[in-house]
This record gives sequence, structure tokens and C-alpha cells, in this order.
Amino acid sequence: MRCFFQNLTSVLAVFTVLVGGQAVTTAQSTDFQLTLLHTNDTHGHLLPYSYPEHFSPGAPEGMLVSRRDIGGAARRSTLVKKVRAEKGHDTLLIDSGDICDGTPFSTEYHGSADVAVMNTIGYDIACPGNHEYNNTLAQVKTMAAAARFQLISANSTVRADGKLLYTPYIIRNIQGTRVAFFGLMTYDARTYPAAKTEVQMEEPIAVAKQLVPELRKQADFVVAVTHIGVDEDVKLAAEVPGIDVIVGGHTHTLLPHPLFVPRPLDTSDHSVHGTVIVQDFQWAGTLGRLDLKIHHEKGHAATVATYSGKLLPITAAVPEDKQVADVIKKYWDPISAKYARKIGETADDITTIGDDLCEYNIVADAVKEKTGADFVMENLGGVRAPYVRGSITYGDAITADPFGNKIVTFKASGVQIKKMLLVFQPAVAGLAYTIDHGKLTRAEIAGQPIEDSRTYSGATNTYLAQTLLKDIPLKVTTENARLDASIQYITRHSPVHAAYDGRRKISE
Ligand SMILES: [Zn+2]
Repeated sequence: MRCFFQNLTSVLAVFTVLVGGQAVTTAQSTDFQLTLLHTNDTHGHLLPYSYPEHFSPGAPEGMLVSRRDIGGAARRSTLVKKVRAEKGHDTLLIDSGDICDGTPFSTEYHGSADVAVMNTIGYDIACPGNHEYNNTLAQVKTMAAAARFQLISANSTVRADGKLLYTPYIIRNIQGTRVAFFGLMTYDARTYPAAKTEVQMEEPIAVAKQLVPELRKQADFVVAVTHIGVDEDVKLAAEVPGIDVIVGGHTHTLLPHPLFVPRPLDTSDHSVHGTVIVQDFQWAGTLGRLDLKIHHEKGHAATVATYSGKLLPITAAVPEDKQVADVIKKYWDPISAKYARKIGETADDITTIGDDLCEYNIVADAVKEKTGADFVMENLGGVRAPYVRGSITYGDAITADPFGNKIVTFKASGVQIKKMLLVFQPAVAGLAYTIDHGKLTRAEIAGQPIEDSRTYSGATNTYLAQTLLKDIPLKVTTENARLDASIQYITRHSPVHAAYDGRRKISE
């Protein structure tokens, strides 16, 4: 790992600024309560939003107490203030990354509106996510300079000067206990624009293996603030001893209760018994709350004595914090006419139910209509929100398709198409397929079985083309934004209907 520890001394900061908590101290030990409020993957959702009423069995939306008119940063702020006003515990507000990419705020302000709102809510600590790197490095630095909260991340190094882009960790003195917070970003960020040429990403768990033993020398309690996804969080907890809590993000995972990764009791100085992991789904429709009782025996590491975590609903019943609402208004007013413009309507919730990815189908159908290609493939993860029954605005279309992808056309043989279907299991148009336990049992274009040696015309988006279709000659038609195709399609076919038509079937 390059240039890591040489940077630490210059960036280390120690804070002692907490109020509200009460510690119970004896000659041998101190016990105190620490509450961590947390969000992740807010993706520009500063205003309230709704989920469809219909969703797949087992989908995380089903665990929410409310799905209509939820979230909104002004309401979130009211909840944060309420928890901060409670007696008996110190409170920190933490975000685990991906504030960018998702709504018109992201399209227009590239994260700056989100930082301004987070400043007003009073965030304490945040780790950046991969979507922050969908900006230029200059914009990444602008956001960091504007943040009045502490941004931490230990695995991003600027190539030009070899220095860490962010402060890797901070240590706060909470009720006499030194609590370290360090940040990690997913290694996948290395494919994002700001990182591609200008930022060197290090593998997060490898970085943690070096950093945590150093932190344990300086701190009594260690919290990782991560944007690496819940599976990697579990791996981090299992492979890197000495992390008490992980406040995670990236996989948009709804954890109604914290995960706990136990480790064999060891007798070394920092014998935490395991790691508590939390994550708050997405878009801050809820506010994560983790209450920790921390026991600190003199001369030993502090440990989690008890913990309890939940996701607090942010519903229309929560009043807005006027100050935060005013900041949001300042950013929304100049762009509202553009984005509140109605482009059409839908008679159904256009969402994913089972294998029918209807929010993708509408994009794929739009691209097929625009290009006249025999078939269209769109990658999973590339359409970011459903359409809720009712009117569809330009802002809704941007929220579904926020990445500025262009349409790419190409030619592929039947053999190549079948391989792509098996590997990517994409959303499709003009094509129907079934994968049954790893075998392609149906593959049809225009209702006819795909012929192995025949050449077909295909269309996809720039992201899928650049990262996944490397061996196929592509014609990049950059004048056609995928979003524009979707908007034209929705307007032309309004009211649009969801295509729950079984064009894609996967059984595993
Ligand atoms: Zn992410």
C-alpha cells in the first residue's frame, strides 16, 4: 500500500466536543451511552418521495411502516433534533456515502445541494461513496471543502501528489473514552470518472488490516464508517480484529436490526467480543438509530456492553425543520419549473415484481423504439427508481435514469447474444429468455428462437457497453441520450402501462 502512514500524522485530528451524555464512573470503570444516528445512499433525495404500493415478496419496501410520502431531509432534521434533545446519551449523526446521483438535485448541483443540507442538519461525520466519484475530482474537492462535517476515507489517494484525498480517521473523546472513526470506500469506485485517472483506490479490507492495529494504539473504541456493502462489512468484521461498530452503506440494505459478527473471546488488550453492523436501506426514508452502552474498564479497551438498533420511520407525520426546508427551497426553486414539468402518466406502478423488471422494461422498450434494433439489453443497477402510478414528471424520469447514459448500437451473433444473456441476465426488449439453474432454456427474438450463426442488431447503454461488451464492435451513437428516448416514449404512449410480461425468467 502506497503513501499511507506517511500522511497520518499531518491529518490526525482529535476532537472533544460532545454534549448531552452522562457517564457513570467508578474507580475502575466508566459506563456511558452513545447513540449513532445514520443514513446511507441518500442519492439526492432531499424531498419526500413515494414507493409503489406493489413490490416483490420479500422486497425491503415491505418492511417499511409507510411507503407513501416518506423521507425528506427537512423531516429528517426534526427527528435528529428530537433524538439529540434526549437526555442520557451523546449523539453523533453519520452518513455512509453516495449522496450524489439520483434526483434533479444531483443532476444540477452534483452533490453540493446535499452537502449544504447536511451542513444545516448538523451531520458530524461522513464517508464518501463511489457515486461521489461520478463527478470530476475538482467537484469532489469542492464538496469536501464545503462540508462542515468531517469527511473520512482511508483508501483513496490522489495520484498527482500521492496524498490521501480525505482524512482517513478522527478520534473523538467521548466521556473520557477515545473513540476512533475511520472511513472506507468500495474498491469498485476505481471505475468511476474521478477515480479512473486521478485517484488510486486501495482495497478497503487490506487498508483496514494495516490501519486498525494503529488505531487501537491510540483509541479505546473503534467505529468503521464504510461504503463497501453489507457482505464486505461482514467480511471486514470477521477478518479485521478490533472493530466495535460498522456503520455501513452501498448495498442499499435494509437491516431492521443490527447484524452482529461474533469473534472468539480473546484476552488481548482490545478484547471486543464482536462487531455490530448497521445500514439504513436507501434515500433516507428512515433514519437509522443505534444505541450503544459502552463499558470502559480502566487500562483496557472499551467494549459494547449492550446495543439496540432500529430504523425510525420518516413519515408525513414528522414536521419539517424550517431551516432545512429553506435550504432545500433555495436549491429547488430555480430548477423546479424544469423538473416538475409533466411528461406523461402511468396507469400502474411500474416497478420490479419477481423477474419482471418493469422500470427497466420501459427504458428498454423506449430504446428499441428509438433505434429499431432487433433487441435491447440494459444492465441491472442502471435504472434507479420505479414510476409510481399517476403523473410522471421530467424529474421522475431523471430519478429513474440519472446517469446520463447514451445509447450504443452493435451487431452480435446468436451465439454472442446467448452468452451475454447467461452472463449478465439483463433487462431486455425485443427478446425473451429463461435461465433455469444456469441453463438457457428459452432465447427468442421477435418470438422466434435465436439462431446461433445469424447476426442481429442490438442496442444498449454506454455503461454496459464500456464495461461488459468489450469483444463486440460497437457503434456509439452519442447524440442519443437514453433518458431522452425514455421521455419521448412515455409522452408518446401516455398513459404507459407496466410490462409484467415474463420476457425475462430466472430460476436458481
Ligand atoms: Zn455505492
